[in-house]
Amino acid sequence: MDFDVLIIGGGAAGISCALVIGSALDKPYAEGKKAGIILHQKASPLNSALLNNVFGIPPGTKGSQILKEGVTHLKEIYPELRVISKEKLNEVSEIDGGFQVITSKRIYTASKIVIATGYTSPFRIKGLEDYVIPHKKAKSSKNRIQLKNTDHLVKPGLYVAGTLAGWRSQYSIASGSGAAVATDILTEWNDGNHTKVHDKLV
Ligand SMILES: Cc1cc2nc3c(=O)[nH]c(=O)nc-3n(C[C@H](O)[C@H](O)[C@H](O)COP(=O)(O)OP(=O)(O)OC[C@H]3O[C@@H](n4cnc5c(N)ncnc54)[C@H](O)[C@@H]3O)c2cc1C
Repeated sequence: MDFDVLIIGGGAAGISCALVIGSALDKPYAEGKKAGIILHQKASPLNSALLNNVFGIPPGTKGSQILKEGVTHLKEIYPELRVISKEKLNEVSEIDGGFQVITSKRIYTASKIVIATGYTSPFRIKGLEDYVIPHKKAKSSKNRIQLKNTDHLVKPGLYVAGTLAGWRSQYSIASGSGAAVATDILTEWNDGNHTKVHDKLV
């Protein structure tokens, strides 16, 4: 497999998930694990957002700035996590022991994948159609969608995060969803022993 975990989508949920996974790659339970994120931010809805009500983010921050800084943050602090930019996920299929992911440029394989591409319809990723349902926490007139899941798990090895998991569209909720998925994956890597990653002042 090219990756032990591959995250798709570089918005609030995807980058938060990648940061927590990246922060664990030096832990013994993650030794040798390969992680990556596929980013395609050009058409990201966050580009038009203005954030005033998010804890830790200065009021008046533009979504476009967060997108840019989030990627820089990820690359600088956790360079072991591979960042694949300017590729769009087109198709997912199941293979022995994981998934094949076809982007606009290449094909990758991964044991686990996290789909965090937002709740916008129509949903254009082939291979996941069977899991698409109307969003349960958005106005029906907006035609938002989500993937069927139980606590972010669509099926073994396939996770969904953020608004696409059925959460309401608030930045902190989507970020928390991505981080939650990351800790679920780390817990699996840690043989089912619950884990999280905290840095402390010494
Ligand atoms: C105009 C606007 C204003 C907002 N204002 C606020 C606010 O004031 N406060 C607040 O809390 N929240 C606000 N939000 C909501 C907040 O931005 C969202 O809830 C949050 O970004 C959702 O996170 P997400 O990760 O689910 O989706 P997104 O952040 O949308 O991330 C999805 C990412 O996946 C990418 N993607 C999509 N399809 C593919 C594909 N096939 N392959 C690869 N990548 C793909 C997209 O380009 C995008 O980068 C606002 C949103 C908008 C649009």
